Amino acid sequence: MFERTIFKSPEEHLGLTRPDEPIMYFSPHALRSQAERFSRGFDGQVTYAVKANPAPEVLENLVSAGLNGFDVASPEEISRVRAASKTADLHYNNPVRSGAEIVEGKRARVRSWSVDDVSELVKLGAPSHSQEEVSVRFKLPVKGAHYDFGAKFGATPDVTVELLKAVVAAGYRPALTFHPGTQCAAPEVWSAYIVAAADIASRAGVQPERLNVGGGFASHRGGVAPDLERIFREIKATVRACFPHPPALVCEPGRGMVADSFTLATRVKALRPDGAVFLNDGIYGGFAEWRDICPSSRIRVLGVDGSEKKGGMQLRKVFGPTCDSIDCLPDEVSLPRKIAEGDYVLFAGMGAYSLAIATGFNGYGVRSVLTVGRV
Ligand SMILES: *Cc1c(COP(=O)(O)O)cnc(C)c1O
Repeated sequence: MFERTIFKSPEEHLGLTRPDEPIMYFSPHALRSQAERFSRGFDGQVTYAVKANPAPEVLENLVSAGLNGFDVASPEEISRVRAASKTADLHYNNPVRSGAEIVEGKRARVRSWSVDDVSELVKLGAPSHSQEEVSVRFKLPVKGAHYDFGAKFGATPDVTVELLKAVVAAGYRPALTFHPGTQCAAPEVWSAYIVAAADIASRAGVQPERLNVGGGFASHRGGVAPDLERIFREIKATVRACFPHPPALVCEPGRGMVADSFTLATRVKALRPDGAVFLNDGIYGGFAEWRDICPSSRIRVLGVDGSEKKGGMQLRKVFGPTCDSIDCLPDEVSLPRKIAEGDYVLFAGMGAYSLAIATGFNGYGVRSVLTVGRV
């Protein structure tokens, strides 16, 4: 599915080959720069949430950029990480696991497990190596992300106090974790969680060895790019201010790490008199996540001669290629009045939760990934 090319950019490839199927363009250079940005700016261990994009090329490039930890949620994700690195830390942070999944995780020497309920701690049994950590996942009613990750997972602060004590009693290294919610650009959401973490630790009388501040780091979907460095500074300052003995920090970006290294190129199949556009990919393919999250406005339209069409914008309904009427982008998209059949519509920042969840419904769905110099 991934293919290496000698092309510098999506524009060059599209201009020379005029593909009729949707194509994801992947820039290893962009991915490695983002990994370096996290490593430089974040005051702790940077791990990657594999679910955002588990492609081997993504994992291999992250390992070669120096990442030494991965957040996994299933035995399949463990195998994918192990294919890219024999030694990277595995953080199994899906807090609900079957007994069989725990056996697999223990065999792979998982370094850290998250739990949000005592039943999951009981299921883990005794630690099987001296580094093994249990990180209690807690939630707060804070807003600021695109959608709330506390709706499914996370213990309340009161329950977390008890769980943290139980983790120590069970012989695991104690840690705390939270997820601020995906596509979060507001540093104060992290601070609210860190303040609560310090309070939980002091109430439990337990010094957590590590604090995992989750993923959620927003990617650039439109307007100005999120200021990740401001978030990194806020995390560091709040941890130092709140904890008498600051725990080591871990973060686990998915979207914020991988989104910007992919561009999705779609093609206009048809235009309708009411302005509606039919593209060759849609909600069942690379845009699967768009039903749940704000659409991205980082869009370029290239004519068949390769020139970019700008100006004279018009909001248009955008349909995907399948025969299902819900295969329609949830919001109208601003596209040039001069858009024509055969034009390419390029969406930047499409690396997260796209290929990972695209289906092949009706024989469509983005399948081809080409490696290019930049996206
Ligand atoms: C999904 C997930 C992440 C990554 O979230 P992003 O918003 O993509 O950064 C990190 N940690 C856990 C536990 C997750 O479930």
